[in-house]
Amino acid sequence: MVKLIIDNQVEFRPEARYVFETIFDIMGLNARFIENCQGIKEKDAIIYYGKQPEKFSCKKIIIQDSDWHVWMNNLPNIKLIGGVPVISTDNIAVSELFSETECPDCFRMNFDLIAASFYLLTRREEVINRKRDAWGCFSEDLSISHKYQITDVPIVNIYAGIISQILERLTASNNEHLEFTPRWKDGKKFAVALTHDIDYGMKYSFANGFTMLARKIIKRKGILKNALRVLSASSMKRDYPDPYWSFDDFMKVERQFNAKSTFFVVTQSTNRRYDPVYKINRTLKSKLLNICNNGWEIGLHGSYESFEDPSMLKFQKNRLEEAVSRQVISIRQHYLRFSVENTFSAQEDSGFSFDSTLGYNEDIGFRAGVAAPFYPFDAKNKRKQKIMELPLAVMDGSLFEFRHYSVEAAFGQVKKLIDNVEKVGGLAVLLWHTQARDELDFPGWWKLYLETLGYLHSKGAWVSNISDIGKWWEQRKEEICRI
Ligand SMILES: [Zn+2]
Repeated sequence: MVKLIIDNQVEFRPEARYVFETIFDIMGLNARFIENCQGIKEKDAIIYYGKQPEKFSCKKIIIQDSDWHVWMNNLPNIKLIGGVPVISTDNIAVSELFSETECPDCFRMNFDLIAASFYLLTRREEVINRKRDAWGCFSEDLSISHKYQITDVPIVNIYAGIISQILERLTASNNEHLEFTPRWKDGKKFAVALTHDIDYGMKYSFANGFTMLARKIIKRKGILKNALRVLSASSMKRDYPDPYWSFDDFMKVERQFNAKSTFFVVTQSTNRRYDPVYKINRTLKSKLLNICNNGWEIGLHGSYESFEDPSMLKFQKNRLEEAVSRQVISIRQHYLRFSVENTFSAQEDSGFSFDSTLGYNEDIGFRAGVAAPFYPFDAKNKRKQKIMELPLAVMDGSLFEFRHYSVEAAFGQVKKLIDNVEKVGGLAVLLWHTQARDELDFPGWWKLYLETLGYLHSKGAWVSNISDIGKWWEQRKEEICRI
């Protein structure tokens, strides 16, 4: 049995406990928190977190805590040691991640990976650094991981792997063996959730044609010929699949890979400039019903203004539930608008179980340094949130609109990220917008999606949607607790 002794600064013990619980969830190990040596058995593996390990005379892993007050208000340093990003508020002088100590079979971590994980998981840098972009989002360019070029490295998973390895060595010396609960379904090595945001109405519609025309006339943006082409095509009432409402094409190709994705739908326009203007009319309703009746998931794409407004989110959720006659439990905010302090609570209060907003618009990677589902931390009430986060890792627009990659270069970036996730047995959430099917307006986007699906298939990933993977993680947690 693994036993944890949390002995850091008293006011930050709930935070430290939260990190241990999150890391042990990822590892798939049950651990018991203990206060003192009573009841410790010879074969137990002990992790001590604090400054006075000598109080406990058993074999153990020692993680010396650092000053959490400093972490709360300062940006840390990062140094790569053996390829592992070590994050610390001190100057990092060590050259090893951990060392064996004077006591035989004891190990000492050479940096405070618990505080570092808390810093990443709770997006502390977004609280410290209040700069935001034109959409009110914390930009990847502002992040410390951008500075060190490690946004695509799942740091918390790597830390969990280090603790697993040391624990195995410690227990082996006791002739014990640790039972890790399998991480993914059917023993798959890593998982991928496929998702699509519906940000546009139909391409061939009068609404879209007039918007394009107005943009050309008022803002001098876009090509007049395109607007007129869309308007004339719309007037002919084309009934073949609309390239922006390409749901059937996505389902068809995903079916070949035995995967069923999540489609996120906007149900209310709350910002004239940034929100989609489509409505759930009869056509869209029947398409959405077709999506869920075939086993794909429908989630809410929370409107631009909704990211910290529970009543707005509740209204939008109800509207979608009425349209599809079933419960909606997954959400992603439009424009990835997100507030560290308020978004998770607003989503939780409106009855969502899973969110997948936590990614960057500008680049692919792991905004919270983690490639796994996790429960966010509610700092105000010092508790774990009930809503689960499945962090967004790859968005089509980040690759093409922000980084301007060619299809080949974009595929290289996606493969590198997937390889990183495979190495740690993690989760990658992918987002391809439904308009990406239109080769004319979004050249190469669909091709990259097909290539990515092929790559995932060749790697043997478990490919599914947000609620399937979220529910799996919930059930797995119950299993871990039973062991
Ligand atoms: Zn959107």
